Amino acid sequence: MARKLDVPGVALITGAASGIGRATALSFVQGGCTKLALLDLNEAGLATTKELLEKAISSAGGTPEIGTYKCDVSSPESVASAYAGVKASFPRIDYAVHCAGIIVFAGASVDLSVDDFDRQNSINYRGLWLCSREAIKIMRTQALDSEAYPDNHISPVRAQRGAIVNISSGLAVYAQPNCPAYCGAKAGVLALTRCDALDYVADRIRVNAVLPGIVDSPMTNPNPEVRAWLEANPVQHSPMKRFGEPEEIADVAVFLASNKASLVTGASWSVDGGSLAGYT
Ligand code: NAP
Repeated sequence: MARKLDVPGVALITGAASGIGRATALSFVQGGCTKLALLDLNEAGLATTKELLEKAISSAGGTPEIGTYKCDVSSPESVASAYAGVKASFPRIDYAVHCAGIIVFAGASVDLSVDDFDRQNSINYRGLWLCSREAIKIMRTQALDSEAYPDNHISPVRAQRGAIVNISSGLAVYAQPNCPAYCGAKAGVLALTRCDALDYVADRIRVNAVLPGIVDSPMTNPNPEVRAWLEANPVQHSPMKRFGEPEEIADVAVFLASNKASLVTGASWSVDGGSLAGYT
């Protein structure tokens, strides 16, 4: 279970209908959050996540305030509208974790269509940027958490206006066959994370990336063939020789968002059972 957050503030999660995004929302709740904004294209999945969170918060004696927002992160209009909805319902955003993403197992560059290339970039890279800049716009105008939550006694040094965690991938720094557009998009997320970390450090907004290895989620189970290939190849070649659990990514994302990580910004945290260590 995730440790308690110093500030159980408002958490926003994209891709919250499934996998790592849903687990991240639950990890924030275990950390004490009761106010969460959940964004995804998949409305049925969002409703399930909301129900899970409401049960968890209520059984811990809290009062859930969960907003769900249908949002296509690849559409600037859809992103703007979802964030306007979040802004109308919540007083601030303390934590934003960007998990929405896709992978298309469509072959090497020559076999990859322009449409599949563009789709992966428009969701994984451009879409994350669209969401991240909306979060930054809101965070920049809000008070430091030490002022917004005086009862939580956040020290001035560790105070933050907000914290962003971008879910990239180990494939940002090492390759897997047949994933050129996905690898490129995730490397873009890493570069964007570093730039935003520098650009908003004076605003006391921290921006970090998490680089998961192969995680057991719907993304890694599109059909039996892909699943078997992943299990026999990258998973078996990773030092821990197992899939990661979405909760193992979620707990690191929540830690990076929290004041406990107050000196961490512009970092890329591998959560991959030792895979990156094996490649370097
Ligand atoms: P997942 O279970 O498939 O969750 C991804 C979520 O993003 C789904 O709910 C999906 O909705 C949503 N989504 C897709 N396109 C969207 C769009 N245009 N707008 C808004 N939401 C959209 O996958 P996951 O494993 O949790 O992946 C979460 C993140 O971790 C992704 O960024 C992924 O690249 C990254 N990651 C995953 C792994 C892994 O092994 N699983 C490894 C490294 C990094 P639908 O269900 O409707 O598609």
